[in-house]
Amino acid sequence: MTGLVDSWQRQLNYLRISVTDHCNMSCVYCSVGSVPLLPRSEILSYEEIERVVQVAATMGINKVRITGGEPLLRSDLSRLVGMLSQIEGIDDIALTSNGILLSKYAVELKQAGLKRVNVSLDTLKRDGFKRITGRDKLGEVLSGIEAAHVAGLQPVKVNMVVLRGMNDDEIIDFARMSTNQGWHVRFIEFMPFGMLKAEALETVSAQEIRERIRSLGKLEPYTGKTGNGPAKYYRLPGARGTMGFISPMTEHFCDTCNRLRLTSDGQLRPCL
Ligand code: SAM
Repeated sequence: MTGLVDSWQRQLNYLRISVTDHCNMSCVYCSVGSVPLLPRSEILSYEEIERVVQVAATMGINKVRITGGEPLLRSDLSRLVGMLSQIEGIDDIALTSNGILLSKYAVELKQAGLKRVNVSLDTLKRDGFKRITGRDKLGEVLSGIEAAHVAGLQPVKVNMVVLRGMNDDEIIDFARMSTNQGWHVRFIEFMPFGMLKAEALETVSAQEIRERIRSLGKLEPYTGKTGNGPAKYYRLPGARGTMGFISPMTEHFCDTCNRLRLTSDGQLRPCL
């Protein structure tokens, strides 16, 4: 085995880069915002991030994902995307965003070299969105998803963290979006990270989610091009979009993990 291999013989080729610890949402389940913000002087500059990725690329990293906090809050993010897209060996640059600012930046990000985007969206209801995220921004996020499609960021994946009693009544609505709108929806099991505000929240297992969706039709395993992550993909009969299931709580995938994380203040982490 060549490249970056850890002590469990896992080949690491994927680096997630957090460019900021700031977020413009305050999701009930998320630990971002519950820890004090770092001083600006401790946040890596774009040049420092570029240097880390240059070195990582020589060791076998060929895919990067820009995340946060909310990455689109970092000014001139397209400049970083452009810098990373010039690095030899990096052949995939992706973004994970809450989508609020995506319609403003989708075109310039695509032009700078961004390939694809994952948008976090847990509900299609305006009230539910306010309850989960603390913001009244559902319209902006839906516009952001549309803008990403139009800009040619493909695929756009929509990530839904499923919470019992909060949005699990929308599992079927999200599944239907893979048929009606061609969305690539990914259902994510909530991970209780132990912060106070998440104490009352309950995970819904991927298996239960799949069972509920079966009321819409047989789930066909999807083996086409999907991504580099741990999701298992399926498709409803006739759907353009796919559905992925990410199950960190009930179907562990640590043995196939291929990723490293770079925190916004420059720490390298092998795990969440
Ligand atoms: N702000 C960006 C966003 O919203 O996509 C990027 C950062 S956010 C922390 C990345 C993803 O982690 C989001 O899809 C979010 O829903 C998910 N996430 C955060 N806390 C989680 C938890 N406790 N369990 C499961 N997923 C979580």
